[in-house]
Amino acid sequence: MLIDLHCHSTCSDGSLTPAELVKAAEKRNIDMLSITDHDNMDAYFGLPLVSPVKIIKGVEFSTTWNKCVIHILGLNMSDQCMQLQHVINKQKDARVQRAKVISKRLNRCGLIGGYETISTYKKSWQIGRPDFAQLLVKQGIFKDVQSAFKKILGRGKIGDVKSQWLSLTKIIQAIHSAGGFAILAHPLTYQFTNTKLKRFLYDFTALGGDGIEVINGYQNSDKTAYLIKLSQEFRLKASIGSDFHHNSAWSQLGCTTDHIKNQIDPIWNYF
Ligand code: AMP
Ligand code: MN
Ligand code: MN
Ligand code: MN
Repeated sequence: MLIDLHCHSTCSDGSLTPAELVKAAEKRNIDMLSITDHDNMDAYFGLPLVSPVKIIKGVEFSTTWNKCVIHILGLNMSDQCMQLQHVINKQKDARVQRAKVISKRLNRCGLIGGYETISTYKKSWQIGRPDFAQLLVKQGIFKDVQSAFKKILGRGKIGDVKSQWLSLTKIIQAIHSAGGFAILAHPLTYQFTNTKLKRFLYDFTALGGDGIEVINGYQNSDKTAYLIKLSQEFRLKASIGSDFHHNSAWSQLGCTTDHIKNQIDPIWNYF
């Protein structure tokens, strides 16, 4: 089976529209796809309902735990749930406020009126750090997106503005009230020690967290084995996804399940 429960469209920081993502998934014979944009489910408005690909409604929420930013996927949710809509609106406000603060801070790096400039061409209200990185490159201030992140937008840099994301408790509750599953995204990107990651998983499961991504994009087999072990230890369901944003040699839609399916409790069996 080919499964992809984590990817991004133009409704956040991806470069394909939701319909183009579904078409690409059809071409690659993917069995199941979830478009999980950052803090919104706009991708599901007007998406073609008839497709050989099974579409699972999802989102990738930003939240904080012990002052660390954590990403939580909500999978298989109804987008009609009032509590979920309320949470999405709050996260949207937090993003807009944060984008304005990032914009002001980047004045010091020679980027004037960044927020206003991005707003003129960005179709989605979702303005995040990648938009600022791309604009910095367009204006010749940095040579590429990676350098912009490395120098000013990455963790702890001037453009890494802390935001008032809703708490982990509220995010998990909203996902559950919409009938969905809460999954820890890319567990190895937070640069936690093994002990800290386990402390997080202890809190996460106590709050009702349901699962953990055991594959996120291209990943070596040691990492996959470690994440599968954690999923077993904490009795968490396992999810997999490409975290696809743009077409490149390094990122393709779809993950195979054959080599891991006997060691995990697959989240997709519950959809
Ligand atoms: P935001 O949600 O606005 O904080 O932006 C986070 C997004 O920025 C992530 O989902 C990635 O798509 C992208 N990102 C984070 N770190 C990097 C990096 N070092 N280089 C390129 N893109 C990055
Ligand atoms: Mn992203
Ligand atoms: Mn993420
Ligand atoms: Mn993502």
